[in-house]
Amino acid sequence: MLNAQVVGRQIVEESFPELRKTKIVYVNRQRIGNCFMDVERTSPGSFLLRVSKESRRLPESAFIGCVAHELSHVLIEKRIPYLFQDLFDNFYESFEDEFERFVDRIAVSRGYGSNLISLYSESYSPQSLSPEEITNLTTRKVKNMEFKCVLFGCIPK
Ligand SMILES: [Zn+2]
Repeated sequence: MLNAQVVGRQIVEESFPELRKTKIVYVNRQRIGNCFMDVERTSPGSFLLRVSKESRRLPESAFIGCVAHELSHVLIEKRIPYLFQDLFDNFYESFEDEFERFVDRIAVSRGYGSNLISLYSESYSPQSLSPEEITNLTTRKVKNMEFKCVLFGCIPK
């Protein structure tokens, strides 16, 4: 059975080196709203990554895509001073769709485009990047693109 913690540690090791020292606690939940997984910052340097029981029915590639998406959330939130967390949460609520697509772009830039395509073939939401958008980003070689600035300037174009 797929274990989010094992998968997550491997993804961090291979593709999110900035998160090697970030504390991420993985917890299993019966249900998480209408999501497979979600993530919450619990202190300046630690995050709680909730994994729903339903995510276990995902094929491996989609499951990996889901964890990579959540780790992309962590990468962004970690860069926001904890003092501004409430502000960020409000911002997130107002721009959820745009933000989720931004998070997807990060996961694609780290090499998880094909995983996102399998994830969204299981459960597509209008918030997500479409398979065509993901393929476009991937073929434009954003895979190894490094972030050039702290926050939103780092959207791969
Ligand atoms: Zn998300």
